[in-house]
Amino acid sequence: MLRTRLLKSPTTAPWLSTISNNAIPTIKNYINGQFITPLSTSDDPIHIYDPSTNRHLANIISSQSCTSKAIEAASAAYPSWSSTPVQIRQRFMLEYAHVLHKKEVREEIAHWITLEMGKTSVDAMGDVWRGLEVVEAASRVGSEMLGDSLQNLSSGLDTISYRVPLGVCAGIAPFNFPAMIPLWMFPIAIATGNTYVLKPTEKAPSAALLLASILHDLGLPPGVLNIVNGGKECVDELITHPNVKAVSFVGSNTAGEYIHDVGSRHGKRVQANLGAKNHATVMMNDSNRASAIKALVGAAFGAAGQRCMALSVVILVGDVDTAKSWVDEMASEAKKLKVGNGFADGVDVGPMISKDAKSRAETIIQQSIDQEASCPLDGRGVIVEGYEHGNFLAPTIIHLNESDHIDSSEAITNPAYTEEIFGPVLTVMTVPTLEDAIKITNSNAYGNGCAIFTSNGAAARKYQFEIEAGQVGINVPIPVPLPFFSFTGNKASIRGDVNFYGKSGVNFFTQLKTVTSNWQYEGGDLGGVSMPVLG
Ligand code: NAD
Repeated sequence: MLRTRLLKSPTTAPWLSTISNNAIPTIKNYINGQFITPLSTSDDPIHIYDPSTNRHLANIISSQSCTSKAIEAASAAYPSWSSTPVQIRQRFMLEYAHVLHKKEVREEIAHWITLEMGKTSVDAMGDVWRGLEVVEAASRVGSEMLGDSLQNLSSGLDTISYRVPLGVCAGIAPFNFPAMIPLWMFPIAIATGNTYVLKPTEKAPSAALLLASILHDLGLPPGVLNIVNGGKECVDELITHPNVKAVSFVGSNTAGEYIHDVGSRHGKRVQANLGAKNHATVMMNDSNRASAIKALVGAAFGAAGQRCMALSVVILVGDVDTAKSWVDEMASEAKKLKVGNGFADGVDVGPMISKDAKSRAETIIQQSIDQEASCPLDGRGVIVEGYEHGNFLAPTIIHLNESDHIDSSEAITNPAYTEEIFGPVLTVMTVPTLEDAIKITNSNAYGNGCAIFTSNGAAARKYQFEIEAGQVGINVPIPVPLPFFSFTGNKASIRGDVNFYGKSGVNFFTQLKTVTSNWQYEGGDLGGVSMPVLG
């Protein structure tokens, strides 16, 4: 029944319009089982650039009417898909996981990620892999959908609650994980019986389109998964259209708070994972120095700091002189990282997503220096040979209170601390005690992830209990939970109360229907005018 996908080369990508004379291709939408070029509008198209070169790769035409067509296709597909047996729906995910397990398929998806988003090929393979793990979870979703039942609540009366799908669900995804985050969304939605409209990031949409094309080749019925490309026009249609029942969002606070508010006002369930400023606490007196420094540097500068779980703040616990030696060692470790095009061998840090993102990060670095921070490693002005026009910023370390005269309450007013930079910039401060580190971490608005580095179990336990962040690592720099669990940011890093993937993800995409039945074998009373009670 299910076919294995034949690999297509990037030049025959079904989501790119055919072009001649080196013209710029348009990204197609995937609606009702077909890749369709949107009609040109009077508005300027959105440009997609290779962040390593700023070469113009493709155009996106953002259209409210295309989004509406995608919602109509998903609405039409819903009755048949929601009544398709759960084993068949799961089996699509099983076959999907099987195809995604093929290294050459993951490499092809990773190719598009590196081209459009810039992260290194190795990191892009990880992006696909962490999404694949959610597909694997979706392939066994039936057991997560089991409801509750109780028999004989009264003579002949039984109650069963079912988890049933919602209808058409929508997803709006960010640029930094072009495969993983779409895969947090539609596989669970579809496996639980919903139909879907995804709007990928307009900066790097091809990975999501390739993911859809694989499911298409596996014979997923038309309209079950649809992809529309664009910006606010598409988003506004998705969050206000009456047929859309639930919206998943991952991205910045500005967009997410708007989407959560408008979507909720229009009666939709909305789950929204937002920005972050993840703090690591390092007990300098008892942590394993070499491995902690390696972990901190990797977690700060991997993917050029463009991970929502990147460690962007390090709080060193101890005295300022010891801290200086730690910072110097972090700087020399970070200096070893090779900056360059994500496709090149041995590159550790790729470009930032856009010229604007790079220039914003550089401005914040300057502002923080102007406010008395020291900059033991300044990555501005890095030149990558052959890629002089790329958005490169080399690892940068800002030390907020190198000397005692700046206390931590002043340090946390520095822009390098107050802003989510979302680039390869690590901000460091020193405090005397673990209590201080916990207090600073908890006073930060965000609460996505955090980590402590220590060999002292009592310190780790205190931190685990007192810290206000959704995902806590103990000697684990980036504690992203596997899909047996859920992704559990808190405070300003989330809106809504239902998390992505895991049991919570299944609950988000299903609602309870509770059926009470009365079967009287001997015949009997089916109720009168008074409220039925058992006395
Ligand atoms: P973004 O908010 O700019 O874009 C995300 C999505 O929202 C895109 O699809 C975009 O088209 C849409 N969008 C943007 N502005 C909009 C607006 N005004 N109205 C309607 N829709 C809009 O985010 P980004 O730059 O792509 O991603 C980076 C951000 O995402 C960072 O803040 C990062 O912390 C966050 N992020 C969070 C998580 C998490 O799980 N907490 C994971 C990944 C990324």
